[in-house]
Amino acid sequence: MTDRKTVSETLHKGISVDFEADEVLYEEATGHHHLALIRNRLFGKVLLLDGAVQVTSADEFMYHEMMAHVPLMAHADPRDVLIIGGGDCGLAEEVLKHARVKTLTQVEIDASVVDFSRRHFADFNAPVFDDPRFVVEIADGALFAAQTDKRFDVVLVDSTDPTGPGAVLFTPAFYRDLKRILRPGGIVVTQNGVPFLQPTEFQTAMGALASMFATTGCYLVAVPTYFGGHMTLGWSSDDDAGLNVGEETLAGRATGIETRYYTPAHHKAAFVLPRFIKTLFDNAVE
Ligand code: SAM
Repeated sequence: MTDRKTVSETLHKGISVDFEADEVLYEEATGHHHLALIRNRLFGKVLLLDGAVQVTSADEFMYHEMMAHVPLMAHADPRDVLIIGGGDCGLAEEVLKHARVKTLTQVEIDASVVDFSRRHFADFNAPVFDDPRFVVEIADGALFAAQTDKRFDVVLVDSTDPTGPGAVLFTPAFYRDLKRILRPGGIVVTQNGVPFLQPTEFQTAMGALASMFATTGCYLVAVPTYFGGHMTLGWSSDDDAGLNVGEETLAGRATGIETRYYTPAHHKAAFVLPRFIKTLFDNAVE
């Protein structure tokens, strides 16, 4: 994958996105993934798993803020939160900014991604490891969802793409288990890729979620290193209250939470889809 000068993202067949590596900081086969960390002059540290960019120091806030704050501001009482995946712990950092969150359980399959990110991405994830509300369990998220007796108000699926160990996190059986472990009024948010380049993956996931939950939708975030245009985050719940929370209420809940991307106005706007994504969505769920 590397010639020590460039590292290529090879996630999408037909394109290869090259990052100049000012330095290759680390490269390892972990047992679950091929992990590479480079330093790039535009994006800072860039973590790739199996040739797909997972997180960069420069733009992690965009994805993590939108994945965490949209459901957490929308939920009336998000006490117990579950993250599936999310090994870099940038999402956990955003979740723990909410004083209303009393426990955060993170189920990540690959211990080395967490250990590694703790060492190399302390600039954003350091507060997580000192927070008594945070517990990491090293396990397959699908197995955890199938077996746990715990119940959650918000579940965030911060997965890799639907290949390798992440594939199971895009199956109807997994979504059924998420519904089982959700409290009434609970919200599930999922990473659903870039629909311009991954229309089939997007539609398959939306169709499966919509068949399981009373309300399914998606909202958008633009992340420079998730190449290909808008990224979609899926939203599912058996209660549509979270979608109808007004901007003033969101602003009240957002008070004191520092963000660089999220605003209550943008929260509402993010659910407005360009026509090609709306058409893909409508065709998938009808
Ligand atoms: N935001 C990122 C993206 O979309 O590129 C995802 C980042 S996060 C690092 C993804 C994490 O999901 C990885 O740490 C990976 O180990 C974890 N993961 C993959 N399959 C999993 C599974 N079945 N159960 C739990 N975690 C899983």
